[in-house]
Amino acid sequence: MKQNNDKAWNALRELTDPELPFLTLEDLGVIRSIKIKNKNHVITISPTYIGCPAISVIESKIKNRLKKLGIHARVEKSFSPPWTTDWISSKGRKKLEEFGIAPPQLKKNGYLQVASANKVKCPQCSSFSTEKVSEFGSTACKSLYRCLQCKEPFDHFKCI
Ligand SMILES: [Zn+2]
Repeated sequence: MKQNNDKAWNALRELTDPELPFLTLEDLGVIRSIKIKNKNHVITISPTYIGCPAISVIESKIKNRLKKLGIHARVEKSFSPPWTTDWISSKGRKKLEEFGIAPPQLKKNGYLQVASANKVKCPQCSSFSTEKVSEFGSTACKSLYRCLQCKEPFDHFKCI
């Protein structure tokens, strides 16, 4: 992200995800580009989970934020290449862990790395001895896990 759109970028990068209010759009890697076409800003975003209702909220957040700056913006969605959880920044992953949510495993070339495959680390005690309790946690983007070490249940941000 660069060019003469710093004003828009600075305003948008700090906006937060409605379902995970401690994560910014920058942490999530949602904003793909900011361009100016015919004096209008065109913001291209990558929807996270398909069908995640958060994306329409994010869209209006972006428009409202820029409107306050006197910037007229259009929001476009890009599905190619599709957003994956690998786009979540290391800062974002750290925040997830701090909030007790196991971050998604990092993939390499689209595949889970062997060492981390199917292993979810407990955000409380860092044990890998965990088990999935339910495919769906507090939101559709998360599944519910339980730590066999400290016995605490926790959410895991699904890896896609
Ligand atoms: Zn634990």
